[in-house]
Parts: sequence; structure tokens; C-alpha cells
Amino acid sequence: MPKLTCPGGHQINLSPIPNPAGFLLIREPAIETLVDQIADICQDEKNGEQFQRKVFDALATRHPDHFQVYECSVCGRLAILRDASASTPLAWYAPEAWSPEDDPNVTVTPQGA
Ligand SMILES: [Zn+2]
Repeated sequence: MPKLTCPGGHQINLSPIPNPAGFLLIREPAIETLVDQIADICQDEKNGEQFQRKVFDALATRHPDHFQVYECSVCGRLAILRDASASTPLAWYAPEAWSPEDDPNVTVTPQGA
């Protein structure tokens, strides 16, 4: 089961798909390109399943302006990865202030657990 360990020593489970700790980070200029690509897929693909698969592929394809992000549910640190298949983060970001109690997607784990 693939996991990522944050600098605080907490484990992030990378197995679930979609991953509740995962985000796709896209540079704003790349969003226009992505929307154009999705519009083209919409024109070409009338089959709902094929449409969904092609849109997921467009989002998952390695792109210099797309990054995979995972959030540690214990300390809120963010791991920035080149893509979902990368095993080593490009960087970790720690929040200046973070209140997991305010995030509905986080199950608060007592510190030290
Ligand atoms: Zn952590």
C-alpha cells in the first residue's frame, strides 16, 4: 500500500482512488487549455462513459502545469508532486495556521497518535 510520510512523521495513504487527501493543482493559464480540450472531447464524444474516461485522462496526463498535491490530515502539510505516479514530493508546505476542526474532510487525530 503506497504511503507518503510527511516531515512531521505522519503517514498519508496514497491507495484510495479518488483520494480524499489528494488534489490536482493547475496553473491558471493551463486551465484555459484544459477547458478547450474538454470542449473538444465533448464535441467528439457522445458516449457518456467515453467522455468521462477522456476527461479523466486529460486531467491525469502528465503536464508541466499540473501538479498532484496530498494533504496530511494530522498537521495540514501539503506535499507537491510532479504527478500521481511520482514517489518523492518536489516540496512540502506547512501551513502558517491551520484548524483541522474547520475542514469537513479531515478526521482529527490526537497529536502523537
Ligand atoms: Zn503531517
